[in-house]
Amino acid sequence: MVAGAGPAGLSAAYELATKGRPVTVFEQDPTFVGGISRTVEYHGYRFDIGGHRFFSKSQEVEAFWRNMLGEDLITRQRSSRIFYGGKFYEYPLSLANTLKNLGPVESAACLLDYARAKAHPTPHPTNLEEWVVNQFGERLYRMFFKTYTEKVWGMDCREISADWAAQRIRGLNMGTAIREAAKKALGARRSGQIKTLIEEFRYPRLGPGMLWERVRDQIAAAGGDVVMDAKVVSLKTHNHRVQEVVVRDGTGRERSVRTDAFISSMPLRSLVRAIGPAATPALRDAGEGLHYRDFLTVVLMLDQPFASPDQWLYVHDPGVQVGRIQNFKNWSPEMVPHPNATCFGMEYFCFEGDGLWSMSDQELLALGERELHHIGLLPQARVIDGTVVRVPKAYPVYDDGYRDRVATLVAELARVAENVQVVGRNGMHRYNNQDHAMMTGFLAARNVMGGQHDLWAVNDDAEYLEVLREERAVPMPVGHAPSQSAL
Ligand SMILES: Cc1cc2nc3c(=O)[nH]c(=O)nc-3n(C[C@H](O)[C@H](O)[C@H](O)COP(=O)(O)OP(=O)(O)OC[C@H]3O[C@@H](n4cnc5c(N)ncnc54)[C@H](O)[C@@H]3O)c2cc1C
Repeated sequence: MVAGAGPAGLSAAYELATKGRPVTVFEQDPTFVGGISRTVEYHGYRFDIGGHRFFSKSQEVEAFWRNMLGEDLITRQRSSRIFYGGKFYEYPLSLANTLKNLGPVESAACLLDYARAKAHPTPHPTNLEEWVVNQFGERLYRMFFKTYTEKVWGMDCREISADWAAQRIRGLNMGTAIREAAKKALGARRSGQIKTLIEEFRYPRLGPGMLWERVRDQIAAAGGDVVMDAKVVSLKTHNHRVQEVVVRDGTGRERSVRTDAFISSMPLRSLVRAIGPAATPALRDAGEGLHYRDFLTVVLMLDQPFASPDQWLYVHDPGVQVGRIQNFKNWSPEMVPHPNATCFGMEYFCFEGDGLWSMSDQELLALGERELHHIGLLPQARVIDGTVVRVPKAYPVYDDGYRDRVATLVAELARVAENVQVVGRNGMHRYNNQDHAMMTGFLAARNVMGGQHDLWAVNDDAEYLEVLREERAVPMPVGHAPSQSAL
């Protein structure tokens, strides 16, 4: 039995069903499969929860995508920018464009500031602000790090640990930034156009949901069940094994189903709550100590064929609350129902229950429209329609102590419910991409069929590093630096 029809849960179910094993997936959403990688349909428009680029170093995942999507997996030239101080900066940063936007005086000030930081660095940086200022100087930190990071995580950069910064943006400093920007400029001039993985990506022509709808259909064709509107609320254990799973539908009706094995992609904290009284105090404490960052998208439809060149725009500007803006038509033209329309997804990072989260949809749509005007993306267009999608637990938070909590959870779970395997993003409290979620799903399914795979040995690149198993007494997440594309 599997909890959750996101990439992890559906990959596990696909592996089981196509190997002739009985499998049932319970998904709490009444309509959409794909979890955070779903594609929402609204009045003929299609949009993602964030835009989902398809890229993996795992050959198995790549082969799976090719097999499922074939020609429907299209290649797009990447176009993304940063909006700050009323100006648009190419991203990844280009030297010429950055210098032009900053102007000679501000550029010189940034360089001076950088030289000052190099000459007098904070000796032992303890927080993100100190760490980044040491690498780039105060002015560049304020422009390209501070506001966006604070929007995404809802924390002052001085509250985020320097360790986390070192892992997250390792290898990046002023020297490499300038070298990369210069290489890009030179390469572009020499070869007319250089194509790297950063400059292009693949995307299903109808959005990632297209993939997950196909996977769902193939699970059903192979005899598996994907049950929608079925939230796993309670797990009954006996002899250290989960024996029954209680699911609840939208009307509150509950039913109980027996199981031999349980693969969970539901958030770890919810899993511990579902175990209820059988959970040890250590397990409960560790579960309650996990935190999440939530997310909402204000989707606005415009009566304009072209509204911006980007697929997405990072909004560093502190004058607006929006953190990032997707232009779904630039991901694939088929995401809008007719050529004269455009569809923006304005992404707001928030906490469940905070001011943004609690605003009515009408207020959020009005906020989105005002902020589009402020940024200058609505010069002649009219907003003709709009909707709001709220996504709880979009990001597992890596705060102080989360690693120990996850290690405790894994060790305790193995004692309390030995036939439970946790997979995927919130399932493992892992800030991952689809490919990692899928790989853990495949391996968990193989374990049910007799395999001996350590799911914690799947790294951020979705590679299964079995060798790491020998090195750890307690399974721990590996490769803690989340990749930029998972943002
Ligand atoms: C803004 C954003 C942008 C991203 N961009 C990319 C990208 O460009 N490329 C990429 O590859 N990845 C990207 N990702 C990451 C990708 O979305 C995740 O890695 C992937 O969706 C994780 O899959 P999952 O199955 O582990 O979890 P989820 O997608 O979260 O799916 C879990 C499923 O479980 C269900 N569920 C939860 N609790 C219960 C319960 N109690 N009972 C039943 N069902 C339950 C949920 O409803 C959900 O359907 C992005 C993520 C975000 C937030």
